[in-house]
Amino acid sequence: MLSMNDTIDIAALEAAQLVIIHYPDERLARLSRELRPEEITPAMGPLLQRMFELMEQGPGVGLAAPQVGINLRFFVANATGEPEDKRVYINPVIIAGEGWAENEEGCLSLPGISCRLKRRATVTVRALDANGNVFEETGTDLLARIFQHEIDHLDGTTIADRMSTVAKLANRRALKRLEEEAGK
Ligand SMILES: [Zn+2]
Repeated sequence: MLSMNDTIDIAALEAAQLVIIHYPDERLARLSRELRPEEITPAMGPLLQRMFELMEQGPGVGLAAPQVGINLRFFVANATGEPEDKRVYINPVIIAGEGWAENEEGCLSLPGISCRLKRRATVTVRALDANGNVFEETGTDLLARIFQHEIDHLDGTTIADRMSTVAKLANRRALKRLEEEAGK
């Protein structure tokens, strides 16, 4: 199932053409593969810039590569909206989680849909930055939620998979509209 992903040539991508894909696009349901060290180069620059642009236009606080149709394990995030808080997380892994918190959550790939989800309240991730350097970061509240939401995307999981039956019912019209739009 990963054979197509193996041929992704980041440098050859037309970054400016990328758009956010919507549920139920099957690329959102795939397990994405890790980037190889030789793929983490300055050639990722235009792609990352485009992802930040799409995230800000959303507006959103995080955007994972599968959301622009690229099944590779990385995401961009900015929990505060301040330029200095823009971050890139490549091959991220959750190495610790503490406590629980329930809050409202949405997704740029599921416009018009939101649900309350219980997530870890504090989460530590280990990832590579855009220069390929390993770092660890601990996030609480919104940042912890972003980490878990975006890593879900890398595993092919969206809020549609996580929401309760009650939330599915509450969002049924919006979900149906997205399914119909995809069918056109
Ligand atoms: Zn999302």
